[in-house]
Amino acid sequence: MILIFFGPPGAGKGTQADLISKKFGIPHLSTGEILRKKLIDTDPLSKKLKDVIDSGNLVSNDILNKIVASRIAISDCNQGFILDGFPRTIVQKDFLADFFINNNLKISKIFDLRLSQKKINQRIKSRFNIEYRGDDKEEIIKTRIFKYLQETKPISDYYSLNYPQNYYLIDADQEIQMIHSDIIKIIKNCDFQ
Ligand code: ADP
Repeated sequence: MILIFFGPPGAGKGTQADLISKKFGIPHLSTGEILRKKLIDTDPLSKKLKDVIDSGNLVSNDILNKIVASRIAISDCNQGFILDGFPRTIVQKDFLADFFINNNLKISKIFDLRLSQKKINQRIKSRFNIEYRGDDKEEIIKTRIFKYLQETKPISDYYSLNYPQNYYLIDADQEIQMIHSDIIKIIKNCDFQ
């Protein structure tokens, strides 16, 4: 089962992907998490990455495509995986399409988490207070939301138009458990190869 999660910053993609990962025993590939782990290193590349992420901008497609391709190649992905934070741009979407064709993989479901602007701001503020993520500062959130609307929402719109049978819009204004059970219902109603 191969799932892709979309949604603006603060939508709870990571939380939901984690719950599904545990329930179905498939790895959760969060590009944000993978990148944040790299930031612990102090080499020049890590320093550059940190500056890009902390400014709310996107890391280069080249780096992301390499990260995702090498992560999917690890054997724990053989039974499927969850993509969270990828693809985020047209270049990444096209890369993934080619990668899937070359490796005989197919997207099972796409979950697009939607929530109001008011809730986006509330959630990110409370996350900043708990996790102290450098990119959760108020002025940086604006850049991340702008980047999402400019680069990533067109990608989820592309999937909704081109894969309508695999695409599900999820109301992410709800509580965590309600969102989770909406997703579970959809997964359980489907047969995956
Ligand atoms: P968010 O809550 O904003 O979705 P993530 O944890 O998914 O946060 O990502 C945090 C940051 O990591 C992004 O703002 C961006 O700088 C970088 N990043 C993550 N995934 C990608 C990607 N696919 N392409 C480019 N940059 C990415």
